[in-house]
Amino acid sequence: MAELFPVIKKNDIRLNNIPLWLDARKKKDFSFVSHAHSDHIGRHKKILASKETIRLFEYRIGKVSAIECEYNTPFTLWGKVFNCFPSGHILGSLQILIEDEIRLVYTGDIKLKTGLTTRKIEIKKCDGLIIESTFDDPRYIFPPLEEIQQRIMEFISSTVKLGAVPLFYTYPLGKSQELIAMLGNLGFRMSVHPTIYAISKIYEECGVPLKNYESLNFNRIKGKVFILPPSARVEFPKPVRTCALTGWAIDKSTKYRYGADEAIPMSDHADYNDLINYISTANPKKVWVIKGAPKFINYLKKEGFEAVSITSS
Ligand SMILES: [Zn+2]
Repeated sequence: MAELFPVIKKNDIRLNNIPLWLDARKKKDFSFVSHAHSDHIGRHKKILASKETIRLFEYRIGKVSAIECEYNTPFTLWGKVFNCFPSGHILGSLQILIEDEIRLVYTGDIKLKTGLTTRKIEIKKCDGLIIESTFDDPRYIFPPLEEIQQRIMEFISSTVKLGAVPLFYTYPLGKSQELIAMLGNLGFRMSVHPTIYAISKIYEECGVPLKNYESLNFNRIKGKVFILPPSARVEFPKPVRTCALTGWAIDKSTKYRYGADEAIPMSDHADYNDLINYISTANPKKVWVIKGAPKFINYLKKEGFEAVSITSS
């Protein structure tokens, strides 16, 4: 393919003839930051990101020189046209389209199912596609939001019936806010880890309404739902039952890995069918799949795409 393609250097991705890195982890002069999850950010000199991501980036890493991307507002850098558009993953998450002789899209992390706290994903036709592939095996098919909500409600009511306190383990940025939005709408009171609380306040500042949550405490514990990051271990004054919320819950071993009583496959990523849907809609000639499994690459080749796996951190 012509002039535009990804180059991997020490596990970070850049474009071959443009001084722009894509979600680099090591410090760079200039990197696009698709969203503020820790595996997509580094201590760069300058970043290109949405205003929400800049806000979250500065909360997590500190002040940074930044160029703010407006959604679907093309701009020119180094003589090429860039356009950023929603990826559906978490607050502020973007994909980027670069137009040269070809149209190249880098997705960052994507979610196709509609979320409660995210903008809906857009899929643009392109010639080259660099795509994340977290759940690229056919066994990863996630239930719709209604079913996830049902299972979460069942976990809470069965826990309360046993006289225990319901405790969810979720990632502090993105999934926690989806859970707070869901349970807040259903009238539950929530007590959340201080980091989750701080990030949720940023969501609210950015215009995402969240309610019925407070920073972690054990006052009026009866009727409360607790939310902590998976790594947090807190002494509770009453017995707890724990539930991990993660796409990996499709694998039976996940609840043991998380040390949880239950696991529900609530994810902020595309599942296997969504990945295929995305690629067939974008319809690129060539697909670079980040950490793509051989089985997935072979499937794409059979479907007529020129597909390769690339490694990144
Ligand atoms: Zn992410």
